[in-house]
Amino acid sequence: MAASHFLRSEIDALRREGLYNAIRHLDGPQGPTLTIDGRPLLNFCSNNYLGLANHPRIVDAAKAALDRYGLGPGAVRTIAGTMTIHDELESRLAAFKGVEAAISLQSGFVANIGTIATLVGADDAVISDELNHASIVDGVRLAKGARSIYRHADVEDLRRTLRKARDAGAGRVLVITDGVFSMDGDIAPLDRIVAAAEDFDAMVMVDDAHGEGVLGRGGRGIVDHFGLHGRVDVEVGTMSKAFGAIGGYVAGSRDLIEWLSQRARPFLFSSAATPPDVGACIAAIDILEDSTDLVDRLWANGARFKAAMQAAGFDIGESQTPITPVMLGDVTLAREVSRRLFDHHGVFAQAIGFPTVPHGKARIRVMVSAAHSHDDLDRCAAAFAEVGRELGVL
Ligand SMILES: *Cc1c(COP(=O)(O)O)cnc(C)c1O
Repeated sequence: MAASHFLRSEIDALRREGLYNAIRHLDGPQGPTLTIDGRPLLNFCSNNYLGLANHPRIVDAAKAALDRYGLGPGAVRTIAGTMTIHDELESRLAAFKGVEAAISLQSGFVANIGTIATLVGADDAVISDELNHASIVDGVRLAKGARSIYRHADVEDLRRTLRKARDAGAGRVLVITDGVFSMDGDIAPLDRIVAAAEDFDAMVMVDDAHGEGVLGRGGRGIVDHFGLHGRVDVEVGTMSKAFGAIGGYVAGSRDLIEWLSQRARPFLFSSAATPPDVGACIAAIDILEDSTDLVDRLWANGARFKAAMQAAGFDIGESQTPITPVMLGDVTLAREVSRRLFDHHGVFAQAIGFPTVPHGKARIRVMVSAAHSHDDLDRCAAAFAEVGRELGVL
């Protein structure tokens, strides 16, 4: 046990450097408002873009799936058998995304971890945007081939990197990008990334976690946003954000999905999501296919909030989506703004620092949802303005 004493000093160092994440404890569901320690707060932290996390149709669907299939999946699907509700989700996902097939996994994180190494062998190369999500970074680390990083959203740098990979004699080449970059809200130039990959006969994989339910017609995602159907080899998605539930998936050709069902280690060695999760995900697709109302409201709310923050004088970065990063730079300042919003104004908006964003680029990332009222948004912007003036940010 003496050997593990380093843990306490490492944890203390995180606290000293302002890098310790204090986690809030919610007394009820995720929604535009929530309760923490008995206090009602306005919630601007969650990826619950469309307010589906506690939507009655989602909750009812989860209960119905529980009644029909029970809770536990029993074992991995290749051994214990796959429940028809998982099949149904996968065919619904494929139809929603406009691809041949989809495979569901336990989370978006797991989908990235499980997919990349199945596509990149020892003689191959993987090329990744420098700001890609941690799950892509870890997935890339599991791949045996050559690994390179290109400058964020810089297609010229990507082309140079592709040229180097080809010159080095790489077999298959896989280019990976986030669709929407979660900490800045910018959209990957996927049309130009695909064109570059086509020039070098490379595969493209996009992680649509923040594009699902947000971008494209009725929230069909980034491939739909750019009209790139049939030109993106691998789409990874999550159902923990706009879909309001939990789970990840990969969408693409029938061959890709069949290959993953034989080779993706989280599919082979980890049990599937539970039936209520899966039922909830199917209901989320129903809601998105029924109407674009929620997606439209999300964008209108994003525009309203951003306009108010810009009018107040905040730097809200380069976001092209409802994600609104309030750029503060210093992590201690960001944490103090967040604390005052929480303690004095009942606004829950979390500071984000290293390692989630680079050192010196701390921010409060405000997550606007379709479920916020105009009054919620205006109160949040007014609270920011007051705290910003108190702390000399404005
Ligand atoms: C949130 C996120 C994930 C992880 O999704 P989970 O389903 O929560 O595991 C993966 N990739 C990106 C880009 C994300 O933003």
